[in-house]
Amino acid sequence: MGFDVVVIGAGMWGSACARHLVEMGAKVALVGPAEPKQAASHDGVFASHYDQARITRRLASQADWSRAAAASMDRYGDIEASGGVPFFHQVGALMAGPEQGAGGDYILKTKNVAEDAGTENVALRGAALRAQFPYFEFPDGILGLFEAAGGWINPRAHVVAEINAARASGLTLVRDQVVGVQESSDGVIVRCAGGEGLEAERVVVACGAFSKAAGLLPEPVPLKVYARTVAFVEIDDDEAERLRSMPSVVYFFPDGEGDCYILPPVRYPNGKTYLKIGGDPEDVELTTVAEMKEWFRGGGDPKAGSYMAEQLFKLMPGLASQGVTFGSCATSFTPRGNPLIYGQSERVFALTGGNGAGAKCADEIGRLGALKVMGKPLPENIYQTNFLP
Ligand SMILES: Cc1cc2nc3c(=O)[nH]c(=O)nc-3n(C[C@H](O)[C@H](O)[C@H](O)COP(=O)(O)OP(=O)(O)OC[C@H]3O[C@@H](n4cnc5c(N)ncnc54)[C@H](O)[C@@H]3O)c2cc1C
Repeated sequence: MGFDVVVIGAGMWGSACARHLVEMGAKVALVGPAEPKQAASHDGVFASHYDQARITRRLASQADWSRAAAASMDRYGDIEASGGVPFFHQVGALMAGPEQGAGGDYILKTKNVAEDAGTENVALRGAALRAQFPYFEFPDGILGLFEAAGGWINPRAHVVAEINAARASGLTLVRDQVVGVQESSDGVIVRCAGGEGLEAERVVVACGAFSKAAGLLPEPVPLKVYARTVAFVEIDDDEAERLRSMPSVVYFFPDGEGDCYILPPVRYPNGKTYLKIGGDPEDVELTTVAEMKEWFRGGGDPKAGSYMAEQLFKLMPGLASQGVTFGSCATSFTPRGNPLIYGQSERVFALTGGNGAGAKCADEIGRLGALKVMGKPLPENIYQTNFLP
């Protein structure tokens, strides 16, 4: 007996899609490996959610991403309850950038999108911005939009919650890597590395950057995958206490020379607490699966990471660091900047293209993927994009 749908990729989008599918009544298998214990020696696939924190916010410069985030965030409480795992930390999210000159676009677009959507936020400038967040030294001319309902999610815990909730509704979880998808007029066979073959009516490929791997989708998916480095600044308990009210931050530099994002103090599985900063000074594309694996194994680029740490110390001159380390990840960008949710054939669907923003809205994108694969219309009156490449 086969499945109605096999979802390939037990990551953020695949787990959400699988949950929505089982709750729509489909018989579903979710196939994907668990996180490797040792990244440096791992030969299999990787994921972009192997971390403790991702910023979550409704504030966004593009309306569709704001809508998908809002829909997901509205459901966080229910997913935490049905999955039995908390993952959302409501510490607030601050979007900051210059109102004028180079780099002024982003914050003004974000302000307009928030106004149209009715997203609650407070606009802070100059003394008011300093008074609310005394540990940041923003230069003059910066507008900060603070969303008290934002914060960060633990992406690993989000995946576990989605999977737990889906299993309670009948999901079959297969911990294996998929090596091939064979489609015929009768159905699809999903071949796993361990030798198992799963039969399905339809298949969703939600493998993040690794959706580009040969043998999964009938056509190449138009993703540009970029190497990303993050810098972790370790802090002690006193410093974590001083920064207790710190929100998640996205900051567009006043000279128009880039941007960064910063996570507030987060305790990691090694027992240490870190602030994390990302925002690579340049885009390095990873074109093959071999390059992606090598990048994930390598732990990031120290030069890019040091640059990011410098940006953090510039913004937070009083930060008491216990040391800086680096990590590697990858982001997948699509030609028009929208998530890709589309059938490449009658039976095989692509669900990928996080565009660096896909964690916060994983549940809604998973739901849209589930609607698509079940042959139901996507809500056109809500989203401007048609989710095609
Ligand atoms: C450094 C960094 C910071 C980020 N920060 C944020 C942020 O603050 N906020 C935000 O919203 N987003 C953020 N993102 C983006 C977000 O993490 C991604 O958009 C999100 O993880 C995408 O989810 P996904 O399910 O498409 O891919 P992934 O999370 O990568 O999951 C893909 C899954 O597919 C599996 N897989 C791959 N190949 C196979 C195969 N052959 N067979 C079976 N399974 C397979 C993998 O094991 C993995 O579990 C960040 C990304 C990076 C890299």
